[in-house]
Amino acid sequence: MFDVAIIGAGVAGCTAAIALAATHRVVLIDKQAEPPERIGESLAPAARRIFHQLGLLAEFNQQPHLLSQGMQSYWGSEQVQVVDNIRNPDGFGWHLNRQLFEAFLRESARLRGVECRWPVKLTASYYDQGHWCLTTDSCGYIKAKFVIDAGGRQAPFAKQQGMQREHIDKLIACWATIPDKSTNRMGLIASTDIGWWYSVVTPNNRRVITLQTDSDLIDAEIKKDLTRFIQLALCSPPMARLLQGLDFTAKADGAAYHGVTAANTTRLQQVAGKHCAALGDAAISFDPLSSQGIFNAMASAMQLADLLRSQKEVQVEYTKQIEQIWQYYVTHKNTYYRQENRWRDALFWRRRHLANVVGH
Ligand SMILES: Cc1cc2nc3c(=O)[nH]c(=O)nc-3n(C[C@H](O)[C@H](O)[C@H](O)COP(=O)(O)OP(=O)(O)OC[C@H]3O[C@@H](n4cnc5c(N)ncnc54)[C@H](O)[C@@H]3O)c2cc1C
Repeated sequence: MFDVAIIGAGVAGCTAAIALAATHRVVLIDKQAEPPERIGESLAPAARRIFHQLGLLAEFNQQPHLLSQGMQSYWGSEQVQVVDNIRNPDGFGWHLNRQLFEAFLRESARLRGVECRWPVKLTASYYDQGHWCLTTDSCGYIKAKFVIDAGGRQAPFAKQQGMQREHIDKLIACWATIPDKSTNRMGLIASTDIGWWYSVVTPNNRRVITLQTDSDLIDAEIKKDLTRFIQLALCSPPMARLLQGLDFTAKADGAAYHGVTAANTTRLQQVAGKHCAALGDAAISFDPLSSQGIFNAMASAMQLADLLRSQKEVQVEYTKQIEQIWQYYVTHKNTYYRQENRWRDALFWRRRHLANVVGH
């Protein structure tokens, strides 16, 4: 019998496992044998404090992630606004090699005594005689006193328990990578009529390019094809300047179109229940505009681990904490979208400005 079973060894699940390893018998499962290539590479400077608390800062600093100097943003006007990290009290953030980062977290959990099992997929769950019984596809049953659902937006355990998910919008992200040896350590955001572009250089000499838009606002062909996707990017003047001189043909080494992924704001209507809680994207998933998903996953994991260690009433306290994060996030998101008025008649922006009125 484990004290805690964690479903999902992404950033949220691994952070919780590492934080609980010294005080609890923890099992961590993931359906993927190793971390997949995932979108999302900017890590906020405040994560440094969490690495420090977990005793991971020195090891993390040895990894080949890039320091992030900040963000150039073309939002609300053609004039660039720069938010640089030089004045941030936590220092620089990072542009992560995401796969390497997650592999590092998995290995850190294993070294701290967490029982790590992958590839193992949760298939069913029920509560019986004072503990949870989890059924998996490849390692039989797992019994645990408390379950953490860190299974990402799919929230597999919460779904099995009938917890409903609220979807606030229809945001998707189309993403591609192209080779880029640039030493530019600034990310770029540029709004456009159907959404907004984001681009940054990652450690392996690659530039990530994403377009955030609503699922019904983009031509199906553009969603599938690197050349057409880049052609659309070139229609945005800041993106055209950024991509000048780069080889974005499909034959370029490292050039790939990765397709479409969900990027909408969602939340579970109930983030904690009887001896269980949802964490990270499983609990609330952010619009990538916030660039806070990874940090939120880590910070919420630390909060949940604190509550479990203190043996306080987890359900009420944790629900209160997540609700506070949600309110703060929604207010900020709406304020930020309100600052872009150049395409106020375009559907993407009308929907966001209306959200300000109805409060989502
Ligand atoms: C386009 C886009 C850009 C983003 N950019 C950024 C960014 O720059 N910075 C940032 O901070 N955030 C960013 N994010 C958000 C960030 O990526 C997420 O918030 C973060 O990945 C959440 O981590 P997680 O551990 O909660 O979930 P996930 O990373 O989704 O991990 C969930 C894990 O659960 C496993 N799993 C799922 N189902 C099961 C099952 N049944 N059994 C076993 N295992 C299971 C999965 O294999 C996976 O490993 C972005 C998101 C999007 C969509």
